[in-house]
Amino acid sequence: MKNDSDAIVIGGGAAGLTAALSASNAGARVVVLEGAQRIGRKILASGNGRCNLANTGELRYFGDPELAAQVFRACPVSKVLSFFHGLGLQTVEEAGGRIYPACGQAAAVLDSLRFALERNGVSVAVNAPVEKLEKKNGRFLALTPQGAYAAPSAVIACGGMAGGRLGHGGGPYGLLTRFGHTLIPPRPALTQLTADKKAVRGLSGLRLPALLTLCRGDTPVEAAQGEALFTDYGVSGVCAMQLSRTAGEMLENGEKPTLYMDFSPMLGLIPRVYDRAAPGDPFAHTALIEACLEDRRHILPREALLVGLCPRLLAEKLAGLSVKETARMLAAFPVPILGVRGMESAQVTRGGVPGNEFDGRTLCSKLCPGLFAAGEILNVDGDCGGYNLQFAFASGLTAGENAAKYAANL
Ligand SMILES: Cc1cc2nc3c(=O)[nH]c(=O)nc-3n(C[C@H](O)[C@H](O)[C@H](O)COP(=O)(O)OP(=O)(O)OC[C@H]3O[C@@H](n4cnc5c(N)ncnc54)[C@H](O)[C@@H]3O)c2cc1C
Repeated sequence: MKNDSDAIVIGGGAAGLTAALSASNAGARVVVLEGAQRIGRKILASGNGRCNLANTGELRYFGDPELAAQVFRACPVSKVLSFFHGLGLQTVEEAGGRIYPACGQAAAVLDSLRFALERNGVSVAVNAPVEKLEKKNGRFLALTPQGAYAAPSAVIACGGMAGGRLGHGGGPYGLLTRFGHTLIPPRPALTQLTADKKAVRGLSGLRLPALLTLCRGDTPVEAAQGEALFTDYGVSGVCAMQLSRTAGEMLENGEKPTLYMDFSPMLGLIPRVYDRAAPGDPFAHTALIEACLEDRRHILPREALLVGLCPRLLAEKLAGLSVKETARMLAAFPVPILGVRGMESAQVTRGGVPGNEFDGRTLCSKLCPGLFAAGEILNVDGDCGGYNLQFAFASGLTAGENAAKYAANL
């Protein structure tokens, strides 16, 4: 039995590593137990290898946004950034408030955490999946294949189920539910949309700036603009992924959502924006596009009307339509959505352990004193743009500091 720490941190991802550092900065002796071979694999994969680690814009959280708001009151983004700057990491802010390491490499974020853990003497055990956590005589006992670890406080930061290959795998929730916590069923979010194959046939590989509107019947529900990518199964790209949470919920309710793709940004008729948008009439730009096509009729033969205006694959798909019909398709190209891609493809999990079972100021369990949780295991998922890592870091810093205080006050 390894009995010499004040806090056990379970999970060596974004939330667990920051929890371990803030607990050790507060004077606690900490051990991190990581089930996989390496710590921080998801950090390395994030932001296409660049790690979009935070966002300075308004908070955009779903699930239990109130818990996220409480966490950010205790640990705002400025505190997360000061924490990293204090570790020597330089950051830059890009469009939309997205924060990246200045060197453009996710490895820099992980290295800054690793070096600080080493400096603080935090012990990190890898290949140490916690199979069982129990509380006996006021101490938590974490059982791993490498042996048992005991401490008066524990932080559970095992992540969710998204991007499964990047973690230890297996549902991490049992560690919390055995203390009486409940579980909102985990589902994939920020993932690609699968579509009726007929709608996207022949377009696979095409990447276009577009305004996407998700509709229930004719009623617009949610919209996002950016680079959409046609694939053989449907539609990908950040803007499509931003709509996947709502699309998934609609499908679960037995609804049949339709995605309308407006190519006006590609045609240069409206500005290119890379963000969410207010959902509006998906056909709003039909007249504008029709006027643009009518102008071209004076200089181009009818069959070449789309040449130089939109990519060949799309032009071929629309061949044979009248100008009016072509304008309508370019303004609101309909894609019936049949599903969303699964956990392996998802960037984040929606669902998880409900926020109201934790004190949002400390992230201490309301059911088991000394037990803390942080990161994606909680029922908080953020938008694209750095929000998920920001929550993992802020909740990790909060839970770690309070786990140290709890152990010190015993
Ligand atoms: C491809 C990809 C790209 C992403 N890009 C971004 C981005 O640019 N910006 C952004 O904000 N978010 C991004 N995200 C989301 C973000 O990475 C996660 O939300 C965040 O890493 C969650 O942190 P976490 O510490 O809660 O969980 P994780 O990072 O998943 O860490 C949990 C750790 O716990 C370990 N573990 C699990 N069970 C056990 C156990 N029983 N015992 C011991 N260890 C265990 C796992 O192996 C893992 O190392 C991305 C996600 C993916 C998949």
